[in-house]
Amino acid sequence: MASFNLMVLPGDGIGPEVTAEAVKVLGAVEKRFGHEFALKEDLFGGAAIDAYGTSARQETLDAAKRADAVLFGAVGGPKWDDPSGSPERRPEWGLLQIRKQLGLFANLRPVKIHPLMADSSTIKREVLDGTDMVVIRELTGGLYFGEPKRRWSDGDGRKAVDTMFYSEEEVRRILQVGFDLARQRRKKLTSVDKMNVLETGRLWREIAVEMGRQHPDIELDHLLVDACAMHLIRRPADFDVIVTENTFGDILTDEASMLAGSMGMLPSASLGARRPDGTGLGLYEPIHGSAPDIAGQGKANPLAAILSAAMLLRLSLGLTAEADAVERAVDEALAAGWRTADIARPGEQVVDTTRMGDEIAGRLA
Ligand code: NAD
Repeated sequence: MASFNLMVLPGDGIGPEVTAEAVKVLGAVEKRFGHEFALKEDLFGGAAIDAYGTSARQETLDAAKRADAVLFGAVGGPKWDDPSGSPERRPEWGLLQIRKQLGLFANLRPVKIHPLMADSSTIKREVLDGTDMVVIRELTGGLYFGEPKRRWSDGDGRKAVDTMFYSEEEVRRILQVGFDLARQRRKKLTSVDKMNVLETGRLWREIAVEMGRQHPDIELDHLLVDACAMHLIRRPADFDVIVTENTFGDILTDEASMLAGSMGMLPSASLGARRPDGTGLGLYEPIHGSAPDIAGQGKANPLAAILSAAMLLRLSLGLTAEADAVERAVDEALAAGWRTADIARPGEQVVDTTRMGDEIAGRLA
């Protein structure tokens, strides 16, 4: 029996719908395993802009820092899309703030093709067979944060600059996440860079090679990002752990997620510094956005949010058996034929968001 403080930020659109089901499942875990999860819920993103004029209040961010983990839904929607508004009135600003203030530098996206789901992917089943990988993206450095970053005009017209900057320490700590994770899995790490063109790429490759020598138990290989984009859809089952910098990771994680067919199935974790036992603060969210096109209709698939809660149990709370039980409950519900609209094939019976959540929670009881 253990007690934990969890911050819950459901956000906008389908965020609150899918997060409610993840919270329901955490409640079932509490009962079954005798733990106590003290939940603190707050507005975030567009909902917080409407209520407080900012997508992330400092008191919300401070409470998140004090929590053991953050369960996050999704933010954004057409109502808050005005690009001319001040930064804090944009939902994504809140997301960048929480990552930055909580020191969440590693984004993990597992992509595992459930055999029953292989036909919902646009990739052929025989190519997908056996796909089980984690893509790790550096989250707080590189092109999205480097300075100078600005726009200006001169006699030749409008101009803009972004800067890709990485320090050795930033590269080492994200590669270390890759080596550690590979060791818990099939011991294969693919480091992705653009060393043929970018100076940051050459630094990345140099450090990866050095660290590879210090981790002889891990089979390390290197791919240029363009080649990696190709191999991901040609031979996805060959990958175990992929690690890459921020911008490349942004693109490759979306590409990898489409192997699985629906956005509604894939969880993610954003992690900061780890304790010696491997646990530590993290933010857990489905990879999908707020899906305004289906919000409020009970159509959202809650499995990505529920599997994000499983990652939270494992990676922040160290509750491995509990995380396994949630993942097993999801597998069992799928095997029993339960489908939300996004993953149903013609003729299959479709259930709504709440019913899918009930099916998972019920299997944990
Ligand atoms: P989206 O992921 O919200 O939706 C893309 C498509 O997938 C839509 O057709 C949607 O209905 C479907 N979909 C997504 N999640 C689903 C689920 N759980 N079950 C069933 N179907 C699902 O991406 P988008 O439409 O490009 O973006 C919508 C809003 O979300 C935008 O404002 C965007 O900025 C925001 N967004 C937020 C995050 C985040 O909070 N981390 C991530 C991506 C997009």
